[in-house]
Amino acid sequence: MKSMLLAACAALALAGPAAAQIFPEPQPYPMPAPTLAPRDVPYPGLLKLEVDATDIDRRIFHVHETVPVAGPGPFTLLFPQWVPGGHSPRNSLEKIAGITIRAGGKPVPWKRDPVDVFAFHVDVPAGATTLDVSFQALSPTAADQGRVVMTDEMLNLQWLSLAMYPAGHYSRQVQIEASVRLPDGWAYGTALEPTGPPASGVVRFKPVNFDVLVDSPMFAGRYYRQVDLDPGAAIPVRLDIFADRPELLEAATVDQLERHRELVRQAYKLYGSTHYNHYDFLFALTDRMGGIGLEHHRSSEDGAGPNYFLDWAALPSERDLLPHEFTHSWNGKFRRPADLWTANLNVPMRGSLLWVYEGQTQYWGFVLSGRSGLLSKAEALDALAATAATYETRIGRTWRAVEDTTEDPIINSRRPQPWTSWQRSEDYYQEGQLVWLDADTLIRSRSSGKRSLDDFAKAFFGIENGNGSERPYTFDDIVAALNAVEPYDWAKFLHERIDEVAAKPPLDGLVRGGWRLVYTDIETAYFKSAEARRKTVDLSYSIGLTLGAGGDVAGVQWDGPAFKAGLTVGGKLLAVNGIAYDADRLREAITAARGGAPLSLLVKTGDHYKTFDIAWKGGLRYPRLQRIEGTPDLLTAIYAPRK
Ligand SMILES: [Zn+2]
Repeated sequence: MKSMLLAACAALALAGPAAAQIFPEPQPYPMPAPTLAPRDVPYPGLLKLEVDATDIDRRIFHVHETVPVAGPGPFTLLFPQWVPGGHSPRNSLEKIAGITIRAGGKPVPWKRDPVDVFAFHVDVPAGATTLDVSFQALSPTAADQGRVVMTDEMLNLQWLSLAMYPAGHYSRQVQIEASVRLPDGWAYGTALEPTGPPASGVVRFKPVNFDVLVDSPMFAGRYYRQVDLDPGAAIPVRLDIFADRPELLEAATVDQLERHRELVRQAYKLYGSTHYNHYDFLFALTDRMGGIGLEHHRSSEDGAGPNYFLDWAALPSERDLLPHEFTHSWNGKFRRPADLWTANLNVPMRGSLLWVYEGQTQYWGFVLSGRSGLLSKAEALDALAATAATYETRIGRTWRAVEDTTEDPIINSRRPQPWTSWQRSEDYYQEGQLVWLDADTLIRSRSSGKRSLDDFAKAFFGIENGNGSERPYTFDDIVAALNAVEPYDWAKFLHERIDEVAAKPPLDGLVRGGWRLVYTDIETAYFKSAEARRKTVDLSYSIGLTLGAGGDVAGVQWDGPAFKAGLTVGGKLLAVNGIAYDADRLREAITAARGGAPLSLLVKTGDHYKTFDIAWKGGLRYPRLQRIEGTPDLLTAIYAPRK
């Protein structure tokens, strides 16, 4: 067989190119017409959306939507594709099933667009005035299918995943009236305004445009309590608490709630405006529903553990969540990067300025946490130390600019990755935070303390009090606003830190703020709590290793001691120097290795057992900030409450 084949090949070769037959090369098959582009003209008529959210046993939302149509002919419905605040084209299309469309009681066949799979085409029959659209949204029944949004105690209803809308119009030009049937006895919170109290278990909301609808999700639940965070104000701010158990609702102390009220006061001092007529923190205390922190103009979806109030001292790393999401009402929702703002939810969103949208929100989130007392000054500084250490050692900074990481929501969508320190991740959040600290301390130093980034926040985010729409901005607008606060070459400052590959760690703001990053062998309380919350043992700054539950190798610092020994993510640490793994035993061994003791790790990967000898004599290392005596203490000034 083999020799015959060789002989055949030899014969072909002898025949030479002159005898070779010419075959046609392939050409691309024609593409279908693109989906109708959105135009800024009103869609005639009012859409009606009915969601039945009572099927909590099976975790299914049943949707019925009526869409008025002007006449017969081709018509396209869109399921939203881009997730506002998620910055990615990954809305849960795969969860939609049972789609049927009818007109006058008769089925109307639909066809999904072969390229734009979020578009559904129909041919509206003559005489039809309305399309009746029905489907189910099959919400995840386990975390491996996506974020769990329905439990026996609560649900998170996101209109984005429960409604279609007509192609061809800006989404703000499509008016829709929504209603929800909730399980008996459940309460709800949302930024939408009801037409009245629930009737026969159904809550009806006043008509809004499609953008406002998807920007106004709902939490509902069996156990609910509302706390007024701005008593007596004309524009209410409310904490709508939902919990796994009724006793968790009453766990908040007077002092804890007062710090949340102080958050509102401090935010108003910072921005000097509001762009909502009421604001609702939809706040879930749960370990059953999936975690979330998602911003909206008039509300936010916020998830914390059940013990947020009960274990207050032990869980500081959860307490910047509300300040972060609240800040987004100004930075992200009202002021929005021009390339991120889109005419509807099926046009690509571009995130080139997410280092402002998220980076400065990260900055103000922590500053407002400090100013409101949600974090003590020590906790706020320890949190900053942890961030500074991450970016001091983020070796991926040597090849990838911060701005390039703004594509990560599209590229990676927060899936686990093996080499975060080298690949980078959505670094525009925290590295952005450090760049804005750099800018703030620079303004404070140059103006001898007369001006600060607070002035920028008020001038940039605080404009047009009461405007509930969006005000887009560009890079040049940022530079101009910074220059108006403090003349400087801000374009160069930002280009060097954001667009260029900048190998130097972004720690100038710390030092100018009067503090330096140091490492000691004792964890800060904040670092410890972050480890506990993530259920990890974080040895990133010593042997370059992060372990998950039971010794799972969850992270290896690129080019660190564990990396150099050959370790990688995915194995399981079984033994340290021949004795079964235990976090304290590993820490003791790292300390003992300073004096020359061995540090030998037995790791199981699949069916293989391997021993790795770690060459590290530096002992345990954990980040914290240390005051640089004799220099102005700007950090303390930044985190101090404003009077
Ligand atoms: Zn954010």
